[in-house]
Amino acid sequence: MYDVIIIGAGTAGLSAGIYVARSGKTALILEKKAYGGQIINTPKIENYPGIKDISGFEFATHLYEQVTQLSVEVKFEEAISIENHDDYKIVNTPISSYKCKSLIIATGAKNRMLGLPNESKFIGAGVSYCATCDGAFFRNKEVAVAGGGNTAVEDALFLSNYCSKVYIILRRDVFRADERDIKVLKEKTNVEIIYNSNITEIIGEDHVEGLKVTNTDGKTSFIKVQGLFIAIGHVPDNSVFKNLVNLDNNGYIIAGEDCQTNASGIFTAGDCRTKNVRQLTTAASDGAISALTACERINKI
Ligand code: NAP
Repeated sequence: MYDVIIIGAGTAGLSAGIYVARSGKTALILEKKAYGGQIINTPKIENYPGIKDISGFEFATHLYEQVTQLSVEVKFEEAISIENHDDYKIVNTPISSYKCKSLIIATGAKNRMLGLPNESKFIGAGVSYCATCDGAFFRNKEVAVAGGGNTAVEDALFLSNYCSKVYIILRRDVFRADERDIKVLKEKTNVEIIYNSNITEIIGEDHVEGLKVTNTDGKTSFIKVQGLFIAIGHVPDNSVFKNLVNLDNNGYIIAGEDCQTNASGIFTAGDCRTKNVRQLTTAASDGAISALTACERINKI
């Protein structure tokens, strides 16, 4: 029996692991893919207090090492179902079953898709959701970035270092990103910003050859690109937990700043829960809060 099982090894889950271990409790982190979560794809973090500048990969690796050095167990197995009992919980994976006193769900969120008919077909053939991972394949080529948030702006800046031309296509006339980065983006000579527009078709046979773009007046145009980087935010992936804890209409686990769900002994941390600000700092903060609350509950049992 573990004291706490944490599902998800992103910033929230790994931070929770640190606080559980430092409270003298045993912890198991279950992760279905790789450690780090969304931040691993961020080229540069410049807004985490105390760290002036670090890559997402380096940040996540430091965090992972910090957790494993505290003897937190990490297993790369997907949680596929949960059994909720008053005094204990069981997490089932395809390989095994694990028992704990308290559970922390920190599963983050996955990439939102544009929802275009042939979007999935072109993944790996010009469509990507990760500029850091795939940007280098588009050296000296023309690409587009979809979105107007921090991720899209950062991706466009990153790609402008490799690509001959970068279009950034956003559906409104304003960005939803940090002013400082927008200013730098606007100064780039190989970046063209296309406001008030949606990508309505990805054109190509075996790989992306261009995009049909429709502006808010209904006018369409063709943009010749070999790559499309989609950065239009994220959606939660909480379907496994829908009968366990209350979700809101968008699929986020309902919890306040105390990270407690409606189910006794089940907590949630990071981007998978209802909240207004989804940042690295708030994910780390949730990790600490959920872990300390979970440990406090165990002490009272
Ligand atoms: P986001 O802030 O939610 O922005 C999503 C962008 O995609 C917005 O421009 C949005 O347009 C657009 N969009 C959403 N759905 C769309 C659709 N179906 N079609 C076309 N456009 C669509 O997402 P994000 O940029 O991934 O950032 C997520 C969170 O992480 C944010 O809190 C962000 O600040 C944070 N973040 C921080 C950093 C950093 O600080 N270094 C880096 C990356 C991300 P509208 O504006 O019109 O809704």
